Amino acid sequence: MSMQITTTHSAIPTDDARLAEILSNPGFGTHFTDHMFTVEWTPAEGWHDARITPYGPITLDPAAAVLHYAQEIFEGMKAYRHPDGSVWAFRPEANAERMVRSSGRLALPELEVEDFVQAVTELTRVDERWVPDGEGEKSLYLRPFMFASEKFLGVRPAEHVTFMVIASPAGAYFKGGVKPVDLWLSEDYTRAGRGGMGAAKTGGNYASSLVAQQEAYAQGCDQVVFLDAQEGRYVEELGGMNMYFVYDDGSIVTPETGTILEGITRASIIELAGKMGHPVTERRFAIEEWQEGVASGRITEVFACGTAAVVTPVGALKTAHGDTPAPAGAELTMKIRQALVDVQFGRAEDTFGWMRRIV
Ligand SMILES: *Cc1c(COP(=O)(O)O)cnc(C)c1O
Repeated sequence: MSMQITTTHSAIPTDDARLAEILSNPGFGTHFTDHMFTVEWTPAEGWHDARITPYGPITLDPAAAVLHYAQEIFEGMKAYRHPDGSVWAFRPEANAERMVRSSGRLALPELEVEDFVQAVTELTRVDERWVPDGEGEKSLYLRPFMFASEKFLGVRPAEHVTFMVIASPAGAYFKGGVKPVDLWLSEDYTRAGRGGMGAAKTGGNYASSLVAQQEAYAQGCDQVVFLDAQEGRYVEELGGMNMYFVYDDGSIVTPETGTILEGITRASIIELAGKMGHPVTERRFAIEEWQEGVASGRITEVFACGTAAVVTPVGALKTAHGDTPAPAGAELTMKIRQALVDVQFGRAEDTFGWMRRIV
C-alpha cells in the first residue's frame, strides 16, 4: 500500500431502508455509492492528493482537455460478496495492467498497478454496505477512469490528469434468465483500425460504436458485431464484448486481430475452457467461417463475454445480405458461464488464484 489516502466520510450516507430498496433491484449504472476516490497528477508532483470523499458532481473547467480531445481511459470490474459475507475482487491487477497499457496509447500518465488496486480496494471497504449479497448474481460494479483535466485547448498530452473510482451496485445482467442476443453485422462502420485505439479501453471507441449500435436496434438486434477495418472480413468483437465460437469437436476459437480489446473475461475463459478439456485457439476468424460453420452444423455454439454479462449466448447474425440462424445450442456456453460465476461468487474453488479478498 503506497498511496496516502485521506478519507472524508459522507455526513448524509444513504439510510438503511433506502439502501435495501436499491440493492433489491439495483439495475445497472444508475445508483452510486456514498463515496468516490480521486487522485491527481502533474508532471512536477506526480500522483498526489489521493482522497476518498462523499460522492458528488465534480467541477471541471469548460476548457478541460478531455471535453475537447477525449483523452480518457477507463476500466470496468466487479466486487463480489461470498456466502460467508466476505467481499472479493476478480483479477484486479489484470484491470490495473490493462489501464497501464491504455494510458500508454492515450499518452496519459501511468498509474502503478498497486495504486490502482489500493484505490478500488479502499473505496470498496468504505462503501462495503453497498456490496449486495451474491444472490441472483448481484455485485458492486467498480468504474476506475482517468481523464485530461488540464485547462488548455492546445493539442498535446495534458499536464493535469485526474484518476477516479466510482462504484455502482449491479443486478443480474439478464433478468428472467440468460437469453441469446441477436447480432447485427456492421459493414458501414468499424470500431478500430491498424495503429488506432482498438486495444485501449477508451471512451472514444464507445463514441464511435454508438451509431452502429443504433443501427442494430433499428434492425431488431440487441448488439452490433464489428469486422476488421482493413479487409472488412475478420470478426473483431461487439461494442463491449469479445466473441467465442464452439465447434462440434469441442474445440473453441476466439478472434485475434491486434485491434480487439482484450477482455479479462476473454483471457479467463481461455484458461478455464482449456482446463475443462476444450482447447481455445486465438486466430483471425472470417465472417464466412461463422456463416458456413453454423449452416453446416460444425459450429454448435457462439457466445460473447465481458465483465457486465459474464457470458451470453449469441443467437442469430443479421446482415444486409441475409441472416445466419442461431447455432444449435448453448450447452458448453452455459457450463463455462457457470464455472466462471461460481469462482467469482465463491461457490467453487479458485484454482487459478484469481480472487483477491477486499473485506
Ligand atoms: C471492456 C471491454 C470488453 C470486455 O472486457 P472485460 O475485461 O472482459 O470486461 C470487450 N470489448 C471492449 C471494446 C471493451 O471495452
